[in-house]
Amino acid sequence: MRKQIAAANWKMNNTLEGGTQLLNDIISSGVEVNNNQSVIFAVPFPYLVSANQQLENSSNMFVAAQNCHNKTSGAYTGEVSVDMLASINIQYCVVGHSERREYFSESNQLLAEKVDRCLSKDITPIFCCGEPLAIREENVQNDYVAVQLNESLFHLDGEAIHKVVIAYEPIWAIGTGKTATAAQAQEMHAHIRAVLANQFGEAVAANISILYGGSVKGANANEIFSQPDVDGGLVGGASLVATEFIQIIKALK
Ligand code: PEP
Repeated sequence: MRKQIAAANWKMNNTLEGGTQLLNDIISSGVEVNNNQSVIFAVPFPYLVSANQQLENSSNMFVAAQNCHNKTSGAYTGEVSVDMLASINIQYCVVGHSERREYFSESNQLLAEKVDRCLSKDITPIFCCGEPLAIREENVQNDYVAVQLNESLFHLDGEAIHKVVIAYEPIWAIGTGKTATAAQAQEMHAHIRAVLANQFGEAVAANISILYGGSVKGANANEIFSQPDVDGGLVGGASLVATEFIQIIKALK
């Protein structure tokens, strides 16, 4: 059975003090996360160790990095490798967020390497895909997303792809307050699952968690997460407010 996941993407927000408080507010709320669910906090690099310690006794809650480098080590000043992440017991890493694709020119090919690096260290990549507004307006989003999946994930075998979490994030809905309708989300998630099934088989595709991202908040999480192919969300803005994110966790199936 595929996991239902609420993943927080803090991006470049929060000081150590603010982030510690935020995590503490969520943990101490007593919100329950059952064994078929995971709550993941993608925090900035400087807080990975402390956040991991803070979540030590919280069942089914994990810390993620927001990025990693595509090389194993070397002269890449300012970068962070998956070996480093593994050495501090990080189990998840966001790969290919649209902000990385846009501001750091990350291509599908580069992201394929990052996915490989993560998997080589048993770190689950949370692989982001999704179309910009112009592509949606042309109504060619299905092909666009299929190419992203093809070029970054189709080199994997059935066992490896099973360890990947996918986040569909239409760029026009990220941080804009514009959410895809539940029907639009379901339509794309079903398409992604069909593309995965075509490449890896129905059984494998049925077991891959596909998260929706794009202006998810407490008020709309229930409707979006209730769609059959939506397995939770990757959440930016609303994950910075404890009460909002707790509501989102509670909306998980
Ligand atoms: C994100 O950053 O992945 C995201 C979905 O942001 P927001 O929830 O703010 O739209």
